[in-house]
Amino acid sequence: MSRIKVGPSIVASTIERLQAGGRVGHERAVLWLGSGTDRIDELYEPRQRTRAEQFYFDRQSMQMLFAHLREKRLRILAQVHSHPGRAFHSEADDKWAIIRHAGALSLVLPRFAQEATLDNFLSLAATYVLSARNEWKETPGVTLLEVCG
Ligand SMILES: [Zn+2]
Repeated sequence: MSRIKVGPSIVASTIERLQAGGRVGHERAVLWLGSGTDRIDELYEPRQRTRAEQFYFDRQSMQMLFAHLREKRLRILAQVHSHPGRAFHSEADDKWAIIRHAGALSLVLPRFAQEATLDNFLSLAATYVLSARNEWKETPGVTLLEVCG
């Protein structure tokens, strides 16, 4: 399987947004969208309500997201979010049903991504792939993704 390419500007902007949430002590989530399955074409941040250990997309926010996907003919390839502490897939993360297709990726950054850089992003993020049996399996991010312009 070839790795999904993601541009450095998308990674940098993701780090910025997660860190901005961290500065007020909140988790934050963004989505990585693609027109195909081999490259991330766009960073999308759904309107969300955030708290220290939670973020929430309301129905209108989801409708805006799906309208955007339809209009631009994009699909969600990955979800990326931050945790206050350790990076792992929580039960709530498992249930968070924004992406539900086999091969979907979920990246979780520890400590509000404060230590994240372009160079360490993929190794710092705990990365999960949704299996055909609908289970999130932790997999090294560098085997799934590649930062390249
Ligand atoms: Zn989480």
